[in-house]
Amino acid sequence: MRRICRFAICMVIVWFGLLELIGMLSLGSNAANQQEQVQASHSMSSSYYETKPLLATHAAYDTKSQQQLDQKKSAAFASHQEASRTIEKAETNQKIVYLTFDDGPSKYTPLVLDILQKEGIAATFFVLGKQVLNQPAIAKRIIDEGHSIGNHTFNHKYEQLYGSFSEFAEQVMKTDEAIYQTTGVRTNLLRAPGGTFTNFDQGYFDALAQAGYHVHDWNVDSGDSKKQGVPASEIVATIKSSKLANKLNVLLHDSAGHAESVKALPAIIQYYKSKGYVFAPITDEVDPIQFKVASKLKWSRPQVTKTEKTKLASFSEQRGREGSMQPEEAIEQEMILHRGTESLVLRRGEYSLTGGFIEVSLSKLTSWLGGSIEFDTEHGELKAFYDGNQVVTYASKGAKAAGTELDHLVPVRATLQKFGIGIAKYVYNDKQREIWLAD
Ligand SMILES: [Zn+2]
Repeated sequence: MRRICRFAICMVIVWFGLLELIGMLSLGSNAANQQEQVQASHSMSSSYYETKPLLATHAAYDTKSQQQLDQKKSAAFASHQEASRTIEKAETNQKIVYLTFDDGPSKYTPLVLDILQKEGIAATFFVLGKQVLNQPAIAKRIIDEGHSIGNHTFNHKYEQLYGSFSEFAEQVMKTDEAIYQTTGVRTNLLRAPGGTFTNFDQGYFDALAQAGYHVHDWNVDSGDSKKQGVPASEIVATIKSSKLANKLNVLLHDSAGHAESVKALPAIIQYYKSKGYVFAPITDEVDPIQFKVASKLKWSRPQVTKTEKTKLASFSEQRGREGSMQPEEAIEQEMILHRGTESLVLRRGEYSLTGGFIEVSLSKLTSWLGGSIEFDTEHGELKAFYDGNQVVTYASKGAKAAGTELDHLVPVRATLQKFGIGIAKYVYNDKQREIWLAD
């Protein structure tokens, strides 16, 4: 078993090594040009998209807790191995699910951990700083058993968090410290209470990115917190009726009042197993699922100031987080699709690489190819038409209510197949991202 795992890791290295090599050989000069195109308005550091991932464990461990971890044959270890194998199978449709538990740790967290351990899978816990201080032993257990931990602010109070960025940042820093002091982990993962949609503006996103935080929303809402005490059967039903995709980030809760979520968990795990998914904890290398910035926010507040941004970034830098202190120097890596003499340039947010899958914006891709996009408000579906045929349909529940512009990132190869178009060649590395379509 060990040997197989090691083999899988080697294959991953070989796979990315090859890609990188191809990139360097074929288009070195182009890559250099691209690097010179500095996108001053984007603060995302290019390391955000690094493709070496999943070999390393999650957040930044200090040496001591790393050693402790090494000694444990934890569920997460197996899960990381599985994720590594997933990369090897890149683009062969291996499906990944990231189970996430928000608002803990609470008395229900040990029950969740027991189930995960029994099933041999790892997940991600977006914890509240306040709860970490209340339940330090449980927070420690999350890490000891190999799960990922993320920052979910200190007290989850919307009016404070979204009333001003300085309050949000204060809570992030306080929670960062609470997690570190309790578990030895300096996490880069963060989830916004209530999600980012209508809560975050671009300033929030930029400031957090500049400080090295990776903000994760979700694409499956279990609905376990839509009211008090949602029955387990309803949670499972919601999960089963949610749209499947190659990567799923599932929102669950392990805070007080969520006994039913615990009860639903075995059935949820069973369901995804039956659909052929592997389970993985979110790591720094996982491209976050992020909601779009809403055109209208729930809050009126002052713009995020440069001082606020710098304060959070300095905090991160002092603590060894790899943030970008100089966003104006950050390069936004573009991805370019070529078809004949035409090309389509995709920017951050319009494409991603997760677990080996390249995903691109459905609406950008469709309109570039000369097709059209329709949004069926009645069913909450996004439909792509090409050559007079409906080729792709995606459910868009969340965004429908808000009436925002709709889009989905879709696996590029599989989607192109539906359009009857193949891929002739592609290069994907830190410096160059290009796909040539066959024609
Ligand atoms: Zn929450």
